[in-house]
Amino acid sequence: MDVVTTVAELRKRVSTARMLGLSIGVVPTMGAFHEGHLELMRRARAECGYVVVTLFVNPTQFGANEDLSRYPRDLEADTAGAASTGADLLFAPPVEEVYPPGSRTWVTVEGLTSGLCGASRPTHFRGVTTVVAKLFNMAQPDRAYFGEKDYQQLRVIRQMTRDLDFPVHIVPCAIVREPDGLAMSSRNRYLDAGQRQAGLALRRGLVAAQNAFLAGERGSERLRLAALAVIADEPAVRLDYLELVDADDLTPVSAVEAPALLAGAIYVGTTRLIDNLVLTP
Ligand code: AMP
Repeated sequence: MDVVTTVAELRKRVSTARMLGLSIGVVPTMGAFHEGHLELMRRARAECGYVVVTLFVNPTQFGANEDLSRYPRDLEADTAGAASTGADLLFAPPVEEVYPPGSRTWVTVEGLTSGLCGASRPTHFRGVTTVVAKLFNMAQPDRAYFGEKDYQQLRVIRQMTRDLDFPVHIVPCAIVREPDGLAMSSRNRYLDAGQRQAGLALRRGLVAAQNAFLAGERGSERLRLAALAVIADEPAVRLDYLELVDADDLTPVSAVEAPALLAGAIYVGTTRLIDNLVLTP
């Protein structure tokens, strides 16, 4: 696997692959790889002729008081991890390569970005859509791989891709979990043993609501309360949000009559964790 840090080198590798008739797959990441990332890469490997993994801790998607400066970085381990999946290229640019001084352009998706994570992270999604649009222009992939753990992000990127006519097929990938159900996340590295245990409350809450749904409950408030009761039982957890929304347009629903997303975010100490599941009637 090659490692490159400039857009020019990336473009050269990709155009050679294209000349050879290979399809291009891209897996955008912020590094600190875990099995969730590696599954995206393996899927890309299985479906594409040339696989580009991008590793960029994108400053524009972090709010002023968020964890940009302490976000886990481990290029050596990440290079080995990406290589182990058979990826062809790791693109790990420095910040100035992606945002040269004087950058002024944002890509924003309206509506879908105001609720859920967007409510507590108001500038997050414009950072995500801006960097993903740039990565699409840099790598010009045929397919791009995103995890359903960041369900809202996936939905927003699909919208952007459609609205801006990027010729990219967006491939959703299932959430990869630890054996006890905790959704894998680079931010899990921040948790000590007690916090990690407490962090499970979100998943347990979501599953409690899912069980109520499977037992026939359709009302949003009752489903939310089933989850909230479990989460409230864990004193080390502070709730950011827990919402039941239409799985397509992400607006709140009062009852589950079509596929609905139950999504939540919690703080354990200063670490913010997210998780979700889809309820399909
Ligand atoms: P990140 O490095 O956190 O920005 O994530 C890069 C990509 O990996 C995004 O598309 C995420 O949705 C995806 N991802 C992160 N964690 C998981 C997970 N536990 N399961 C599946 N995909 C994941």
